[in-house]
Amino acid sequence: MNREKLFNKMKKFPKVDLHRHLEGSISPQTFIKTAEKYGGKLPTHDLEKLKPLIQVQNDPPGFENFLSKFDLFRGFYSVINSVENIAFTAVKEAAEDGVKYLELRYSPTHFSSNGRFSESEVIECIQGAIDRASSRFDIIVTPILTISRDYGVDLAEQTLGLIEKMPKGFVYGLDIAGDEVKNSAKPFADLFDRAKKSGLGLTIHAGEACGAANVREAVVDFHADRIGHGISSVEDESVMKLLCEKNIMLEVCPTSNFYTGVVPSIKNHPIKKLMETGVPVSLNTDDPAILATTLTDEYVAAVSELGFDENDLKVLNQAAIEHVFYPDKEKLKNMLLHYWD
Ligand SMILES: [Zn+2]
Repeated sequence: MNREKLFNKMKKFPKVDLHRHLEGSISPQTFIKTAEKYGGKLPTHDLEKLKPLIQVQNDPPGFENFLSKFDLFRGFYSVINSVENIAFTAVKEAAEDGVKYLELRYSPTHFSSNGRFSESEVIECIQGAIDRASSRFDIIVTPILTISRDYGVDLAEQTLGLIEKMPKGFVYGLDIAGDEVKNSAKPFADLFDRAKKSGLGLTIHAGEACGAANVREAVVDFHADRIGHGISSVEDESVMKLLCEKNIMLEVCPTSNFYTGVVPSIKNHPIKKLMETGVPVSLNTDDPAILATTLTDEYVAAVSELGFDENDLKVLNQAAIEHVFYPDKEKLKNMLLHYWD
C-alpha cells in the first residue's frame, strides 16, 4: 500500500490517545491566529520563522532541545479566551484526526504563568472548551492535570489542593512530567499518595530519559496506574514482569522517543518487544504540534516501520480502553469497543 493510501486508511481508523499534552498540541498556525485575535506575544508572526522555534522537525534529537520548545509560550496567554481557543482547537484537531477517545493533560501552572488569571480559572476555562468541542465533534475527552517536576513541590501542591477542592468528577487523573534527568520524582511522593486517596488515576513520566529503575520506583513506591513512556523497561526483565503482574500500562509515544534521543530510530523502537512480552502498551502522540506528528502518523509509522498489522492496532486500542481514567469504564466500553470488534 502506498503511503498516501495507508495514511488515509489510518486516519479513518478509530483511535485512542491516552498521552497527549495540551501545551504541545498547539500548532504554529493556531498560535498566530490566537495572537491576532486575542493578543499574546510571539517572537514572530511569520509562520515559516515560527515553526522551527516550536517544532523539533529537522533538529538533532535531544531531551533539552525538546523541552526548550515549551519555554517560548509560558508567558503567551494574556487573556483567558486565548486559552479557551487553543484548547477547543486541540480537541477539534484530534477529532478530525480520527481520535475517538482522548485523555488530554495540561499544567494549569503553565497557562497561568503570565499572572493574568489563576490556575482555577484555567481549569474552568479548559473544561468549558473541552465540553464545547466534544459536543460538536465525535470525540470523548477526559482531562488530566499535570504537575511538573521542574516547577517544584510547592506549586505542585497548590495544583493538587485546587483539584481536591473541586466538585467530584471534575478532574480524573494526575500526571507528573518535566525533566526526569535533573529532577527526581521522590520529593513528590506525598502528593502522589494524596492524589490516590482523592481517587485520581496516577500516571508518571518515567523510564523515558532514565533507566528501568525509575519505572520500578513509579510502580512500587508511588503506585502509578500508568507510566508515561516507560520504554526503558525493556532493558530489565524483572521490570517487564512487574508491569505484567500489576497490569500497568506504558503510554508509548514513538516519534517523541525519537526526537528526545531515547531511541535511534522508529525502526528500533521497543514497542513490539514490550507487546510480545505481554506488557500492556498503548500508542500515543505526546506533543503532536511540537513533534509535527498526528496519531495517524504514529499509526502509519507503526505499520510501515514496525510491521504492525490491523489486528495489532485493534489490540492496542482495546488495551488502552482497559486503562482509561474515565470514571465509568463499562459505559465507555459500550460506547467505544464496537470500533475494534
Ligand atoms: Zn509526555
